[in-house]
Amino acid sequence: MNSRASHLQSKLLYRQSLKYLPGGVNSPVRAFRAVGGNPVFIARAKGAYLFDVDGNAYLDYVGSWGPAIVGHANPRVVKKVQAAASRGLSFGATTEQELMLARFITTAFPAMEKLRLVNSGTEATMSAIRLARAYTGRTQILKFDGCYHGHADSFLVKAGSGSMTFGVADSAGVPARVAQDTISIPFNDAEAVVTTFERNGNKIAALIVEPVAGNMGLVLPEPGFLATLRKVTRHYRSVLIFDEVITGFRVCFGGVQHRYGVTPDLTCLGKIVGGGLPIGAYGGKAEIMELVSPQGPVYQAGTLSGNPLATAAGIETLTILSRSKAVYDKIEATTSALCNGIEEIAARYGVPLQVAQLGSLFTLFFSPGKVTNYREARNCDLKRFARYFRGMLKRGIYVPPSQFETNFVSMAHTPGDIAKTLTAMERVLKLLGRSI
Ligand code: PMP
Repeated sequence: MNSRASHLQSKLLYRQSLKYLPGGVNSPVRAFRAVGGNPVFIARAKGAYLFDVDGNAYLDYVGSWGPAIVGHANPRVVKKVQAAASRGLSFGATTEQELMLARFITTAFPAMEKLRLVNSGTEATMSAIRLARAYTGRTQILKFDGCYHGHADSFLVKAGSGSMTFGVADSAGVPARVAQDTISIPFNDAEAVVTTFERNGNKIAALIVEPVAGNMGLVLPEPGFLATLRKVTRHYRSVLIFDEVITGFRVCFGGVQHRYGVTPDLTCLGKIVGGGLPIGAYGGKAEIMELVSPQGPVYQAGTLSGNPLATAAGIETLTILSRSKAVYDKIEATTSALCNGIEEIAARYGVPLQVAQLGSLFTLFFSPGKVTNYREARNCDLKRFARYFRGMLKRGIYVPPSQFETNFVSMAHTPGDIAKTLTAMERVLKLLGRSI
């Protein structure tokens, strides 16, 4: 329990960081703005646990936002990275490890006939869009409200009201002309997809989607939704891009495309593929990928792309995950035990809570009804979420500091960890239940 824990060092470091870093952080969600309080500064991590600079331990459900599926500082991964580091940190030249990782990825994702390694998920999606535009000779991009595809200009767009809305930028600094080329419509609304293509189909270069959405909290596709996307994009000769940056190697040794049996033209990966080091990948049909430079005219490059440390961490992480299907079955069973326990506690204390789960991903929506899209996610009780977050943190459980994120369970989470989480959850939901 951390209820009487000191956070003095974290507070001091945060105050100093505010001087040098905008908002004191290098990525916005880390500042805890949505839930209040000071961010904790992490000193180290091991297995399923984080340790802060004040010596407090936290059972971690963020997992570096996905990469840490084999547990933090997994000894096998660390050993390979150390060995790779001793051979040189970066060459800016081709290595055998890039070939090995590419083979690994293609075996798990046969639809990625050819692929390119980059340094982040953002780079992967941004490059995939450029490629789709070159392939089709069109400019418009169709996306879904609440799906996050990194921070490139074209993706920082949400829909206004109505079933088809031309983009208005979510972020300052995005030129209106760029935003206008992005259309955003509600997730899980197959009718809006069809209507949008009927009106604009011959201008849409690509439809990009998180096939299981993780950035409005976890929202699963309704039955038939992904199949509709495939059918409509094929009809209008638009490129279907699955952004599996979160779900790739997370929901099985492959992606949502395997669990749901729908094959995109291009796939974007990141996170797990780099085992905790910076990486991204995009790939798909050879006919499309062959347009990428130097084979084709679509320019895309990177000083650190295919970095030897990142490929070493990625290869070893995928090796561990590929051992047997039992690896995934076990993390899924651990996660289900937790989710079932939470549902039971919420019902007992009368807290309106929806638990969404797929494999080792889950989100608790503070909502009386099922959440199927961004509008419904935004209607959740965000104040109650913030109290839940702070209650869990106080009890040594580190969950995502925002309603619009998913939790990540790893191979290192034990039944004992689940029991500990449920004990904390019981206290927190009891308090929340009383205040309804
Ligand atoms: N796509 C999805 C689905 C993501 O969740 C993220 C990041 N969480 C990105 C793209 C961007 O990846 P990165 O932060 O590595 O740029």
